Amino acid sequence: MTDIWGLSALVAEDEDRSWQRQANCMGVDPDLFFPERGSSTREAKEVCRGCVVQADCLEYAISHGEKFGIWGGVSERERRRIRRSRLAGRPAAAAAGGAAS
Ligand code: SF4
Repeated sequence: MTDIWGLSALVAEDEDRSWQRQANCMGVDPDLFFPERGSSTREAKEVCRGCVVQADCLEYAISHGEKFGIWGGVSERERRRIRRSRLAGRPAAAAAGGAAS
């Protein structure tokens, strides 16, 4: 089955990724989560919105340095903000809040 993780070259074989079986995006076209630069991210974020593993997905993307796509309902620009805020010791929620892309 197609999934967005099939596009990542950074997956460790022994890593627990069981949370991915509960993903809302399972079976959804992965291209939706990797929109062209300047294209809307709204559809992908809608899929993520009700996903029960959204937090796991976001942490996965941040810990693996995913530079492209929507992960955990968050764009690459929003993830950069979260990373910068964490490095600065600020709460991540404040970093993600108000992000628009
Ligand atoms: S948060 Fe979005 S990208 Fe991540 S597993 Fe859920 S639906 Fe898929």
